[in-house]
Amino acid sequence: MPENDAPTPGSPASPARPRGLSPETLAVVAGRPPRAAGSELNTPVSLSATYVGGGSLGEGGLGYGRFGNPTWEALETALGTLEGGSARTFASGMAAVTAALHLVPADATVLVPHGAYNGTHAVLDLLAGQGRARVQRVDVTDVAGVRAALAASTGPLLLWLESPTNPLLEVADLAALAAAGHERGALVVVDNTFATPLLQRPLDLGADVVVHSVTKFLSGHSDVVLGAVVTRSEELLAALTRQRTLHGAIPGPMEAFLALRGLRTLPLRLERAQRSAADLAVRLGTHPLVTRVRHPSLPADPGHELARAQMRGFGALVSIEVAGGAAAADAVVDAVRLWVPATSLGGVESLIERRRRHAGEPAVVPPELLRLSVGVEDVEDLWADLSGALDTAAAAAG
Ligand code: PLP
Repeated sequence: MPENDAPTPGSPASPARPRGLSPETLAVVAGRPPRAAGSELNTPVSLSATYVGGGSLGEGGLGYGRFGNPTWEALETALGTLEGGSARTFASGMAAVTAALHLVPADATVLVPHGAYNGTHAVLDLLAGQGRARVQRVDVTDVAGVRAALAASTGPLLLWLESPTNPLLEVADLAALAAAGHERGALVVVDNTFATPLLQRPLDLGADVVVHSVTKFLSGHSDVVLGAVVTRSEELLAALTRQRTLHGAIPGPMEAFLALRGLRTLPLRLERAQRSAADLAVRLGTHPLVTRVRHPSLPADPGHELARAQMRGFGALVSIEVAGGAAAADAVVDAVRLWVPATSLGGVESLIERRRRHAGEPAVVPPELLRLSVGVEDVEDLWADLSGALDTAAAAAG
């Protein structure tokens, strides 16, 4: 891909950026303590289970360690600023997902991408099994199909979106889908874990709520499990705060500190990782064992044009399919030495995983699909290791 084809941050092809400081600068400056002589540059880790004279439940303010914490608040200010809303952090991405799913009544129908993160499918199956949600899988690349599914659904509605989806990397038209959802009165939630607010801001595109696994790109060092929900609605924010306080899925102060430290370098990490991802996507397409490469940077990718219009970059996840099925894919994973065979994504280190090894992975994900989370290592080292592993697997397959 020619370098100037990529809508890198600040390129003329980028969608209009909000007025004021750029996201790259906001990632560095948002959520700092007030600038005053002698003040700390970084919000410290606040380790306190209670606060002297603190208010009681429902009064707001700090009060008690389950109601609020200054280190969470610093991270929430930064995340809220980047997404263009107000954020609440949670103990994990799944706690954030669950909190967002509980924003609608128990008889709601939830429309979810057929290829969404398997944990989201699992919690929806759990809720459906308990009679606390009705679930419908949809193809989010098909706006007309989603509109028809919305029209055919009765009662409260929640439209759950991911873009790019995990791990098929399908690109959904967020603005069109949010509008379609709102026409039917649906609450529209976007899991923005893969893109991060540096590449797309779903609230600007009409979504009501954004969810993150902060564990991934936002923290960036595979040393934290954390989640966040962001919204512009005061009513939804109050509901999320109440849920967090009462359900107790609160972040640890140390995790919040580490996530905020990681967030400061998100623009640098993401820029490097997505450049390498686009480079590797092209090279992978030339390897005889690889039958399909999924990355929105590729002009032939079905999501390419939409991603160019909707995103400020194509992201650092690449999925490939290999000849020889699951066995060949497992052989690739066994043969890498630099890439780490592990689940998760978005860290500085490159990870590789055959997603269908998880029993709960949706059946639409091909058994031979490998998801690659590209880190910040030298791209030549990454390619040497990966192409060597593909060669080894190809030789073993005969
Ligand atoms: N959403 C997406 C898209 C994810 O990939 C994940 C985890 O992989 C989650 C949510 C859940 O996040 P966590 O593992 O932080 O609970």
